[in-house]
Amino acid sequence: MNKTSKKKGASKKVISNRRIIQAIIGVIVFIAIQFFNISLWYALLAGVIAGLIFGKVFCRWMCPLGFIMEVFMNINPEEKFKQTYQYHKLGCPIAWISGILNKISIFGINFTGNDCTHCGVCDKACYISTLNNEFSLHKKGKKNPAEQFSCSKCLQCVAVCPSDSLKYNFRNFIKK
Ligand code: SF4
Ligand code: SF4
Repeated sequence: MNKTSKKKGASKKVISNRRIIQAIIGVIVFIAIQFFNISLWYALLAGVIAGLIFGKVFCRWMCPLGFIMEVFMNINPEEKFKQTYQYHKLGCPIAWISGILNKISIFGINFTGNDCTHCGVCDKACYISTLNNEFSLHKKGKKNPAEQFSCSKCLQCVAVCPSDSLKYNFRNFIKK
């Protein structure tokens, strides 16, 4: 296995272990706030800095409440739980601010189209593209779901792409 495919394998492994990472960071955030009396303002500041660099990563990679909501959604994937999750996110200032920062964050999801076969698997994995066909990760002339407020950087689109045409790295602001 060469260096590039090893790197791709490692990043897909990180994405597939997202919930474990979210649980660990979530517990650390919870302990810091509850037992070390760290002000919620610091949590907000950390979320904004993370948002500026990585986009809206807090909800799906760091948030203790987000983790609990996802567990409930998996136990009972009924629509009402999905809606509760959306309402919970609407009330969170970190979700609001970092969602807006998705448009200008330093890291983003880049499409490198050369090897893309337009299989459409990425769009099927993305809840934004699935709900609204104005969005697509690979079709020209469609809006990029990764820049939308709702994109919580679950990175499922990156993980499922068989040709590695989607990458989460330094954003190419010039090439659209
Ligand atoms: S999953 Fe990858 S190969 Fe398939 S359409 Fe999306 S970017 Fe192209
Ligand atoms: S990371 Fe990809 S799959 Fe997840 S919401 Fe954003 S664009 Fe969609």
